[in-house]
Amino acid sequence: MKFVDLHAQQQRIRSNIEERIGKVLDHGQYVMGPEIGDLEEKLADFTGTRYALACSSGTDALLMALMAYGVGPGDAIFTTPFTFVATAEVVALLGATPVFVDIDPVTFNLNPERLQEAVHSVAEEGLAPFCDETGREGKLTPRGIIGVDLFGIPADYDRIGAVAKSYGLFVVEDAAQSFGAVQNGKMACNLAHIGCTSFFPSKPLAGYGDGGMCFTQDEELFETMRSVRIHGMGAHQYENIRIGINGRLDTIQAAVLLAKFEIFPNEMNQRQEAADRYHALLADIPGLVPPTVPAGTVSAWAQYSVLAGNEADRRKRRERLQHADIPTAVYYPMPLHLQSAFRKLGYRKGHFPVSEDAAERIFSLPMHPYLDEEQQRSIAEALRF
Ligand SMILES: *Cc1c(COP(=O)(O)O)cnc(C)c1O
Repeated sequence: MKFVDLHAQQQRIRSNIEERIGKVLDHGQYVMGPEIGDLEEKLADFTGTRYALACSSGTDALLMALMAYGVGPGDAIFTTPFTFVATAEVVALLGATPVFVDIDPVTFNLNPERLQEAVHSVAEEGLAPFCDETGREGKLTPRGIIGVDLFGIPADYDRIGAVAKSYGLFVVEDAAQSFGAVQNGKMACNLAHIGCTSFFPSKPLAGYGDGGMCFTQDEELFETMRSVRIHGMGAHQYENIRIGINGRLDTIQAAVLLAKFEIFPNEMNQRQEAADRYHALLADIPGLVPPTVPAGTVSAWAQYSVLAGNEADRRKRRERLQHADIPTAVYYPMPLHLQSAFRKLGYRKGHFPVSEDAAERIFSLPMHPYLDEEQQRSIAEALRF
């Protein structure tokens, strides 16, 4: 059994992919070829955003979003410690300070009440809860929030947005795992000032390599990110008006993504059906907590993550699955505030108990559009004891 079955998907669209790659080989515009604009237009349409900007990875999408806001030393950027490292890495890369805020125990996303407390503390005292880092004047300035749509479920952007508004902060949506998700009738990537997604091969909409995209309704932010994407260029290629990066998506990846996007809505339905079957099969397994999707939300089901009773129970269940040749994964075994890369921030175990508890108990089951009922029955069997 596969954790993510990319082969089954490829069989379905192989000829379309080969045809589209063939076209790129024919026209030869490997950098910023016509497929880039085509993909941007289609995905802007799909997400309901005005502007979309293809780029080299989900990490660079986040970096470009923060660069568009001119984030730098002394700035506090609030985010969750229960995420992939890239979310906070880009903050540190720009010399700003990631201020971690604990998560909600049900959705594993940023807890809006804890967020309000942390922002208040930085706004009033220039100091973040538990954090040793300060700005140039010995104080941090609250600048922005990065919400993360973990496992495909969007963070609570109504409440996050309300906190942001009252303190004049920007909100970036890390939608690397949630492309295709819906919250109160709006698509993921369109739930904050800038939405950033990833096309890494294991994400819901995935290429055959690295890729990402930024989405926004704001023309000025879009123009700035477009300049940042190509070395801070101005009106022409050799005029540089700011410091930027080489953040372009390859034309060949855009060609692959166009082929994959054709079947994406159907794949989303298949993921939802697989999630529904899991739900029915796992509902009565003692000691196992299946995911809960909040009202008004459709998950993109990047992962189907469950909670075991404790760390030993998780180990036991994963071993039973492994013996049945069923792969599992742990996202994420160590919250970011405990990673040595962020040691200088001064966080310690006990500072974010909900994140720490989730890291000890969570694990993810195989999830992809081609998972069938028989496979899911065998997974449920192995989990039951
Ligand atoms: C995958 C991921 C990223 C980074 O995307 P890349 O395309 O791998 O750079 C950022 N944030 C989250 C939550 C992710 O899952």
